[in-house]
Amino acid sequence: MTDPNDTAGLADNVALQDAARRHLWMHFTRQSDTSTAEIPMIVRGEGVWVWDQHGKRYLDGLSGLFTSQLGHGRTELVQAAAEQAQKLAYFPVWSYAHPTAVDLAEQIAARTPGDLNRVFFTTGGSEAVESAIKVARQYFKLIGQPERYKTISRTIAYHGSTMGALAVTGYNDIRIPFEPLMPGAVRVPNTNFYRAPYFADDEEAFGRWAADAIEQAILIEDPSTVAAVFLEPVQNAGGCFPPPPGYFARVREICDRYGVLLVSDEVICAWGRLGHFFGAERFGYQPDMITMAKGLTSGYSPLGALAVSDRLIEPFLAGSTFLHGLTFAGHPVSAAVALANIDVFEKEGILEHVRANEAEFKAQLDSLRDLPIVGDVRGAGYFYGIEMVKDKDTKETFDDDEAERLLRGFLSGALYESGLICRADDRGDPVIQLAPPLTCGPEEFAYITERLRIVLTEAWKHL
Ligand code: PLP
Repeated sequence: MTDPNDTAGLADNVALQDAARRHLWMHFTRQSDTSTAEIPMIVRGEGVWVWDQHGKRYLDGLSGLFTSQLGHGRTELVQAAAEQAQKLAYFPVWSYAHPTAVDLAEQIAARTPGDLNRVFFTTGGSEAVESAIKVARQYFKLIGQPERYKTISRTIAYHGSTMGALAVTGYNDIRIPFEPLMPGAVRVPNTNFYRAPYFADDEEAFGRWAADAIEQAILIEDPSTVAAVFLEPVQNAGGCFPPPPGYFARVREICDRYGVLLVSDEVICAWGRLGHFFGAERFGYQPDMITMAKGLTSGYSPLGALAVSDRLIEPFLAGSTFLHGLTFAGHPVSAAVALANIDVFEKEGILEHVRANEAEFKAQLDSLRDLPIVGDVRGAGYFYGIEMVKDKDTKETFDDDEAERLLRGFLSGALYESGLICRADDRGDPVIQLAPPLTCGPEEFAYITERLRIVLTEAWKHL
């Protein structure tokens, strides 16, 4: 904690807070909330822990933003970045190539399921989704189906904040201020089994219903106009909706029937989050494209990518340029970090570690189900959502005022105070989201669960 006698340190903190209030535009943050309350300032990290400006320690239970797979302070990744910056700090992948991007593209292709052998680099997830939309549109023009431009995605699902990716995003509140958006973005139900409107006692039947809703949307829109379906392996927004059994097999069948592309948006789910390099592998389906970012470098440097199938690249190889590019995409330093990241994954058996420990993580979180406020615990791998309810028996949720008081009035602050960084979110029904670094084990799960129990027990009093 801050030493009250350290007046220089206190003065530095006041100056930093003041500068942050005046100059830093924080993303997706209600800036007025920061006008009086202290802005949490994270100053360093080591392993699964981070420290704030007062020297207080927190478990990084969201891996920053679903990103720090290997945790903080990994010398291997730092060294890889420094060595690459010394050798070749920057060169684009427009017209030229550099060996680090080539190596990484090859390494990614070797790990993607099936024939997703071509890698288009970006600097993050939104750009990867944006690129997938553009590949789909140009691909269909090149093969003589120019009417196909529409996209299908699920309600509440977040696919990014740039204008195309935002149109595909299924959460209305963040789209409305920027309308009109890209036309032709159609929404279908998500796979929230806890709140299944049909077949609430039969997960398989529910999955079939949810997949068939995609077919209905394709038919309503006219199949000859639909380009691609965007789905996360486990949908994040709304609080971790895993796919019901059979869901993706059915979706693949439907996409094939109508000539629609299946894009697996794995910006969160790839790179070990679900115990595999890609979530599609875990759930046994073959996408036409995979978008990735975040864990690709464990956050040590920004990078995203889109992997596409041999079939999709074919018309582009025949002489048509993909008219799209980004100055910093495939940045040599980021590519070197991603290669070092893969190296650590393999040397330390990170995927095996997640698979061996995920049941323990789930069991620990499941132990919270005895609390009256815990309605559901769901997820997979190291990726969980805890849905909070007003009434467990009826699954009644909170009204807007109650959710505001619960999440922003109490939970966000109390969780942070308790020494656990995670996210209290109400893009759908109120949930707490957890996605700790993949190096966590039973000891850290116990810490997370203990903090959650204290805060969730207290939460009841703040409604
Ligand atoms: N797609 C999904 C599934 C995401 O979760 C995110 C970000 O959280 C994005 C796309 C956008 O990625 P970025 O924030 O790197 O642009």
